[in-house]
Amino acid sequence: MSATSIRLESCRKAFTDGTVAVDDLSLEIQAGETLAILGPSGCGKTTTLRLIAGLERPDAGQVLFAGRDVTALPIERRDVGMVFQNYALFPNLDVAGNIVYGLKVRKVARAERERRCAELLELVGLQGHGQRAIHELSGGQRQRVALARALAPQPRVLLLDEPLAALDAQLRERLRAELGQLLRELAMTAVFVTHDQGEAMALGDRILVMERGRIAQLATPRALYQQPANCFVASFVGTLNTFVVLGRTANGVQVNGGSLPWTGSELPSTLYCRPEHLRITCEPGHMRGRLLGQFFQGAQSRLLVDVGSDQPLTVDSADDRLLAPGELINLAVEPQRVFSLHV
Ligand code: ATP
Repeated sequence: MSATSIRLESCRKAFTDGTVAVDDLSLEIQAGETLAILGPSGCGKTTTLRLIAGLERPDAGQVLFAGRDVTALPIERRDVGMVFQNYALFPNLDVAGNIVYGLKVRKVARAERERRCAELLELVGLQGHGQRAIHELSGGQRQRVALARALAPQPRVLLLDEPLAALDAQLRERLRAELGQLLRELAMTAVFVTHDQGEAMALGDRILVMERGRIAQLATPRALYQQPANCFVASFVGTLNTFVVLGRTANGVQVNGGSLPWTGSELPSTLYCRPEHLRITCEPGHMRGRLLGQFFQGAQSRLLVDVGSDQPLTVDSADDRLLAPGELINLAVEPQRVFSLHV
C-alpha cells in the first residue's frame, strides 16, 4: 500500500473545562515520514495524535489524509493502526488471537489471517509465540504484539502513543532500535508521541516540539539540535550551557570565568553552547574554571566545571584522562559554536 500524507489545518481542540489542548495547529506530515511529537506533560501531544486518529474531533480546522478531508470520519474509517503505552491487548486471547483480531472484524478469510499472522510474528521477532497467553509475555514482547496487531490490517498510517514508555531502560533502547528498523522497512507514515528526546531524535525523521498546544518548532533532529528556534526548544533537546554576558571584549564578550568569542553586531544578554563544543586545553583558552566532577559515560566523559556562575558548565570530552577534582581547567570553544536564542 502506498504511504499517505497527513495534513492538519488550523486545528483547535478545547475541552469542556476550557483547557485548550491544541491551538490553531497546522502541519503537514509527508507520506512515509516518521514524525515524533515531543514536549512537556500537558502540551497537547496526545490530543494531536487523537485528532489524527479520529478519536477526537477538532472544534475548528481540518484533518486531511492524502489530501482528502477525514475530519468527520471516526477511527474505524480512517485506516489507522494504533499502539498505546499500556499495550491494550486482549488478555483472554493468545498472541495470534490478538494479532488477527482486526482481520477477523474485517472478515478476512482464515487462511489469509494465518498467513498474515505468521508474517507479522516474524516481522516483530515473535516466531513460534502465536499460542502464548498474553500474561506469559514480557513487557517488550507485549509491545511487539501490540505493534503486530496494529499493523495486521495494513493501515495507511501508524500512530504510537509513548510506545516504549512502560519498558525498562535497557529493553527500551533495544526496542527503540527495532522499531526504527521496522519503520524504515515499512516506509509507512508514522506519528509517535514521546517525552523522551533520545527516542524522538533516534526515530523521528522530523520532530514536532509542542508548547501549550502550539508548534514550538518542527524540524529534523539535527536542525532542532543545531538551530533551536528558542530557549524552550533548546532546553528540551540536549544539554545547554548558558552564559550571562557581562560586557564586550576586543574579540567577543565577557562572561563568568573568562570570555567567549562573539562577532554578532548586537550584544545579547545570554549566550549558549553545547557541552561537546567546549574543549579542554592546556593553552590559556577562553575560560578557566575548577573541576567539580567527572562522570565516565563510556565513549566520553561528562565534566562539571565551576566558572563562578549559578550553574556549573557541562563539558563532554572524548579525552578519557582522569582529572583531579578541584583541578583548574582551561576551556576553549570555536566561535561558530556559540549562539544566541530567542527567549
Ligand atoms: P502527557 O505527556 O502528560 O500525556 P500531553 O502532551 O499528551 O501530556 P494531552 O493529553 O494532549 O497532553 O493534554 C493536553 C491538555 O488537555 C492538558 O492540559 C490535559 O489536562 C487536557 N486534557 C486532555 N484530555 C482531556 C479531557 N478529556 N478533558 C479535559 N481536559 C483534557
